Amino acid sequence: MHCFTVVMTLLWRDSWLKPLSDFDVGVEKCSYCKKAFGEINFVTACDFCDIAIMHDACANKHIVTKHKKQLQEKINAHKDKPLHDYQ
Ligand SMILES: [Zn+2]
Ligand SMILES: [Zn+2]
Repeated sequence: MHCFTVVMTLLWRDSWLKPLSDFDVGVEKCSYCKKAFGEINFVTACDFCDIAIMHDACANKHIVTKHKKQLQEKINAHKDKPLHDYQ
């Protein structure tokens, strides 16, 4: 189950965002805001936990609030260039 989630996450986050209507995942509600998905919604899964799919905007909020530390670690791990001075 965990591997399955990871594969879906890679598809959604690392290639390009697809409308939910292209998926046959049987999910109707956003796990973050609990609102039903509309006709076309951009969705994604969390990179850090097994929460079900969310609106893309909700996933951003979820990750920032629930996984701030992990996100920072991930950013640091992928940082191969020094930041600009003004950042
Ligand atoms: Zn939502
Ligand atoms: Zn999460």
